[in-house]
Amino acid sequence: MSDAINSKILVPGPNRLETLKNNLIPKKVEVFVWRARKKRLAILTELDKRGVDLHSIRCPICDDDVETVDHTLLFCKQAFDIWSKVFEWWGLNVSSNLSVSELFGKDSSITMSESGAKIWQAVKWVCGYLIWRNRNQKVFKNKCWNIPVALNEIQVTSYDWIAKRFKAKTLDWHRWLHSPQEFVNV
Ligand SMILES: [Zn+2]
Repeated sequence: MSDAINSKILVPGPNRLETLKNNLIPKKVEVFVWRARKKRLAILTELDKRGVDLHSIRCPICDDDVETVDHTLLFCKQAFDIWSKVFEWWGLNVSSNLSVSELFGKDSSITMSESGAKIWQAVKWVCGYLIWRNRNQKVFKNKCWNIPVALNEIQVTSYDWIAKRFKAKTLDWHRWLHSPQEFVNV
């Protein structure tokens, strides 16, 4: 995506949903989060609302429900299992009352330092981004993901991106993998 488009779509829209920033991950993930919260992803129900003629608007992953942003990124069975694993990795429980917008915002249910909250938020954004990328790989390339591979990919990618950008402290890979709770109060 060009910078011109990036800057255009990052301007807050009429409903004043504030733009979330997190400089621990690449800009493309920040843009994805903005689009997801605005429901501006090329998801079947959103395309349908905009008059695109579609054969079906059912979820291409599970076929159990219509495809919405919240369904695909959060409630689709595979996505929810992945979120559960990611929360478990951080010693937390995922709530089924969340929306994507809340999930990507600051988590006020747990006490964290400012840096810790930013790291945890960045991890959640990486998770959502990779779930969306996987959805597209399934739709366009018929490639499937499974939970262990997904979790590993989220752990590796989030570490690669965050450790490089987090200046306050060196993030140790072994701790990242086995006791990330240590980072909530860095
Ligand atoms: Zn589904």
